[in-house]
Amino acid sequence: MELRITNLSKRYSNGVQALDDISLTIPAGMFGLLGPNGAGKSTLMRTIATLQDADSGNAHIDNIDIRTHKDDVRRILGYLPQDFGLYPKVSAYDLLDHFAVLKGIDNRKERKEVVDALLHQTNLYTVKNKHVGGFSGGMRQRFGIAQALIGNPKLIIVDEPTAGLDPEERVRFHNLLADIGSDKIVILSTHIVEDVSDLCNNMAVINRGKVILTGQPLALIDTIQGKIWKRFIEKNELPQFQENFQVISSRLTSGRTLIHVYADQQPDAGFAPAHGNLEDVYFSAMAYLLDGQVRPASSDDHRTALTA
Ligand code: ADP
Repeated sequence: MELRITNLSKRYSNGVQALDDISLTIPAGMFGLLGPNGAGKSTLMRTIATLQDADSGNAHIDNIDIRTHKDDVRRILGYLPQDFGLYPKVSAYDLLDHFAVLKGIDNRKERKEVVDALLHQTNLYTVKNKHVGGFSGGMRQRFGIAQALIGNPKLIIVDEPTAGLDPEERVRFHNLLADIGSDKIVILSTHIVEDVSDLCNNMAVINRGKVILTGQPLALIDTIQGKIWKRFIEKNELPQFQENFQVISSRLTSGRTLIHVYADQQPDAGFAPAHGNLEDVYFSAMAYLLDGQVRPASSDDHRTALTA
């Protein structure tokens, strides 16, 4: 199974170029679509989910053309949108049952089996009679996955599912996603690098509507080894370091400012080698420091990377 996205572009009526010639091949397994807010992730997800049309370009799921065969796509699609709204005064069971009806599971007995199984899978069975409006953020997102999995979809899209979850719920949610199965395509759109490093065997970084990096997380991490350097500095020294070095990230660690710099060699004696991780890959990509990246026409990307 494969999703092939070819030259998708979309400009909104306000002039924002949300997708700018996106091409991607997404195989079965977990695929991480990583990018900052406003990168175009939701636009791309909604387009693949057949909820909106691109201006040009297309996508195919195996032989299904998403532009001309929307119903066929919807039959194999499970979608958890970014702004998944819930009817507050309905129980989890009844709401899931309702979604199952909408998905075309007409047989009552079959529907009960499906709903019960999904409530167990998402660890919501014990609260199945509670109103979803009273659910915590994590429970809501698990419910969102339950509804996305109705009908055993082959293509599952989850858009920013972990934003706002506490660490424990995030781990729980990760475990749930990891169990979904490697024979399906699961696209996880996120601005959180950890989501991708924990879960995905393939990924792409998008920024300003363009794919700027794609590959396997571990292979991408390999490409930056020996090129990431760290140093503690005073907070007020940051502008000066940004001037002199390719600072890809700066963060407070134990009340001190730790910077990571991208360089082929040790920038100076004050820097120590850092073991590059996926976050360094992401920030290096956002600063257009990696080979083979497509840079948008105009940009102040470096700043974007630092504040992402
Ligand atoms: P992401 O999901 O990565 O945050 P989006 O796809 O939501 O990115 O947005 C990409 C860009 O398109 C942003 O600049 C956003 O403001 C703009 N945008 C998104 N939806 C609309 C819309 N319906 N009308 C106009 N602009 C939009």
